[in-house]
Amino acid sequence: MTATVEMEQRANAPAREVERVVAGIATSDGAGVKLTRVLTQDLQRRLDPFLMLDAFRSDDPDDYIAGFPDHPHRGFETVTYMLAGRMRHRDSAGHQGLLTAGGVQWMVAGRGIVHSEMPEQERGLMEGFQLWLNLPARDKMAPASYRDITPAAVPAYSLPDGVAVKVIAGESHGVRGAATRPVTEPTYLDIDLPAGATFWQPLPEAHNAFVYAFRGEALVGDSGTPLPAGRMAILGGGAGVRLSAGGVPARAILVAGKPLREPIVQHGPFVMNTVQEIRQAIVDYQSGAFGLEVRQDA
Ligand code: FE
Repeated sequence: MTATVEMEQRANAPAREVERVVAGIATSDGAGVKLTRVLTQDLQRRLDPFLMLDAFRSDDPDDYIAGFPDHPHRGFETVTYMLAGRMRHRDSAGHQGLLTAGGVQWMVAGRGIVHSEMPEQERGLMEGFQLWLNLPARDKMAPASYRDITPAAVPAYSLPDGVAVKVIAGESHGVRGAATRPVTEPTYLDIDLPAGATFWQPLPEAHNAFVYAFRGEALVGDSGTPLPAGRMAILGGGAGVRLSAGGVPARAILVAGKPLREPIVQHGPFVMNTVQEIRQAIVDYQSGAFGLEVRQDA
């Protein structure tokens, strides 16, 4: 679909407006990596199927050098999107890979993986996001798998007014993203807006959606509600998302997905549907037979 057609289609479609602006909380994870937890546990219901969004950005090695040594996951997907820096991952099945600026690691933890995520730099800027996407109950115990998506393999397009979009997941303006997932049907876009530019993304009405600005100030909805860098806007209902930039350029990620409406029970890196399943995850992890089968997809 061309941009023109989409703009015509949206002529009478109301844009989603900002329901709430969230600052997130400064915290640390792994062996002491400083980050901002933007999507916190109390928002898991509202933003179902998303469980967490961490934003990290620092040029002080003390903030990131300790990395994330071996740790398990079960029951959901992790999507790591690097904007700057280099991160090496290794897993319990013997795979490893290097995440570089503009690259994405899409990991389906499924029934279990143990992995480490360690910076492969001693200085310089480290910046990116890690998003946790829930799995439907029926897929939580599927075999673990992951894909390393190189920067060049992330589909991208530009619009005539200079808006540049990377399509990490879903589909945007006829461009199919690097990842397409069943059931939760996530959309994950990185949208770079020059000053004065506007962008429209249609979304299914039932999908939950949020925008996180990380450069300049994005204007959200038909109302043009300002969203400064470092803030997440939870979006209300509507036919799609309208983002624009005023006097200064803006850059933001847009994330949306179909809610699962299933019980969420989280215990650290395990996210299941019942307390019994969490107990089982702990037992399985402690038995040492956790994450020995991991599929590496091309
Ligand atoms: Fe991890």
